Amino acid sequence: MLSGISSEIRQKLQTNLSRVWDRVTAAAEKVRRSPQEITLVAVTKYVLPEVLPALVDAGCQILAESRPQELWRKAEFAANLPVRWHLVGPLQRNKAKKTVPLVELIHSVDSVSLLETLETLGEKQGRQVRVLLEVNISGEPAKHGFPPEKMPEVLEQLKWFPHVQVCGLMGIAGLEGGLGAARQQFSFLRELRDRLRRSAPPQVELRELSMGMSGDFEVAIEEGATMIRLGSILFEGLPPECLKKD
Ligand SMILES: *Cc1c(COP(=O)(O)O)cnc(C)c1O
Repeated sequence: MLSGISSEIRQKLQTNLSRVWDRVTAAAEKVRRSPQEITLVAVTKYVLPEVLPALVDAGCQILAESRPQELWRKAEFAANLPVRWHLVGPLQRNKAKKTVPLVELIHSVDSVSLLETLETLGEKQGRQVRVLLEVNISGEPAKHGFPPEKMPEVLEQLKWFPHVQVCGLMGIAGLEGGLGAARQQFSFLRELRDRLRRSAPPQVELRELSMGMSGDFEVAIEEGATMIRLGSILFEGLPPECLKKD
């Protein structure tokens, strides 16, 4: 357990973050995009809740977790901080009820049955549940996400889910093939989004493209990412007592 965050740790986080923003800006400018089009989602799964205030002070306002239970725990810890939460990992239906009120966006919706659950919750809780649909862009069977060819059919079904607002698509590049393969997969997701947008029902905007992590965010930005989900790169060089053990 951490008793307090030292000024060295704060300094480290600030340095990491400003380096990341420099790289975001350079990648955006390379393809004549404005860095302001890009939202940095700080994935906090590697660190203890005690690190969050320093992360917020360093300029992160959007925090994310990949596991609902860890999100609940950190959201409670950070209740008084000016942050918004995103969920970026799988959501089991029995964890949806508690998760939905805590999050601004769920990046990882990958089944129609989850859409149904979110619709029911949205209706009961009197809210629009904002989500991205996760697409399996790597073709690796172990990865989550709708198969791309299923997407037109999924969008067609959205009319049954008026309390679910689909804001865009999310994808994770595969482990194989390095940055070249990642680029192809990101470009594929953007083209899929553009195509789907033309035929999507009017309430479906598909503005957002959540793609790019610590190892491939520049390529993702060059290919049109509007949200990048960064974890490890933000926490490089932090002492082990800041890190989660598991
Ligand atoms: C952990 C995680 C990230 C961040 O990964 P890094 O490579 O550490 O930046 C992004 N997206 C999802 C879905 C994750 O689970």
